[in-house]
Amino acid sequence: MVKAEGVHKSFGHIEVLKGIDLEVAPREVFCLIGPSGSGKSTFLRCINHLEKINAGRLWVDGELVGYRQKGAKLYELRDSEVALKRRDIGMVFQRFNLFPHMTAVENVMEAPVQVKGESKAVARERALKLLDRVGLSDRAGNYPSQLSGGQQQRVAIARALAMEPKLMLFDEPTSALDPELVGDVLDVMRGLAEDGMTMVVVTHEMGFAREVGDSLVFMDGGVVVESGNPRDVLTNPQHDRTKAFLSKVL
Ligand code: ATP
Ligand code: MG
Repeated sequence: MVKAEGVHKSFGHIEVLKGIDLEVAPREVFCLIGPSGSGKSTFLRCINHLEKINAGRLWVDGELVGYRQKGAKLYELRDSEVALKRRDIGMVFQRFNLFPHMTAVENVMEAPVQVKGESKAVARERALKLLDRVGLSDRAGNYPSQLSGGQQQRVAIARALAMEPKLMLFDEPTSALDPELVGDVLDVMRGLAEDGMTMVVVTHEMGFAREVGDSLVFMDGGVVVESGNPRDVLTNPQHDRTKAFLSKVL
């Protein structure tokens, strides 16, 4: 579903991604861990067309990100074409970024109505189902300010799902939450994994990575240091840098 070959990304003179190679299979839960500044968010942003890579190749669902290939030549996609591709990728951030002036159900309906031109009735019906799926059927009429952080994050997940994405990206979805609210969000993510959603998850929740993850990658300094089955990497890391990182977070 995602394939990276030698992906490089620089900001000015600073090289943040120094040749990332990895592959995410369909229906896989792919966890990404690593110290602050190692390039995890940047890599997610590249997958989601929010950053342009400087070298290498990146594919989502078999299609090159940012380019159209004609013979041996690559043509950059126009903004309108990029917007179409981005519809298929859901992203959930550390901060929930809900529209504050809209209720939970209105937040979830917004993109299907505005972006896809779906009727409000159809969008509302799906939104209510999605709110039920994230355990918030009784909160549809609440504004974000009336919801806890964990509830807002679950609305954010429902909102991303409303576009029926092929791929979900999560960037530390529980790090801004009070500890007692983390479990409900992880449960929703676990449910999505069970339903077969392909997910790339940047997280500090090693328990989630171990129990739900199919693959785990440890990134440091813009490179993949170590990857494998989460249980293997977490219990028996091979590289000193992985060991040092895990000794701090486990
Ligand atoms: P964290 O765990 O703190 O979220 P991260 O692994 O997600 O870290 P990134 O946010 O990808 O790290 O950042 C990697 C490096 O790239 C950092 O040094 C950051 O300052 C730099 N960086 C990210 N975005 C930009 C930008 N738009 N312009 C300049 N530098 C940037
Ligand atoms: Mg980050």
